[in-house]
Amino acid sequence: MPSDTVPNCRFCLANDLLADTPLGENHAFYMLGSIDPELTTSVMIIPRQHSETPFDMTAEEWQ
Ligand SMILES: [Zn+2]
Repeated sequence: MPSDTVPNCRFCLANDLLADTPLGENHAFYMLGSIDPELTTSVMIIPRQHSETPFDMTAEEWQ
């Protein structure tokens, strides 16, 4: 089930565990750049609301 914040989750912004600064964001997601030296043009799109799987995301997040 989705929840706003899970303790010690490094992607839940409220935990303040991100090693870098998001490159962009909107109301539902934020985006991090790749730290993999072989994938320099890749990004990760992360939901603001903690989700264990994509199936936990809300209909609004999918739009
Ligand atoms: Zn999380």
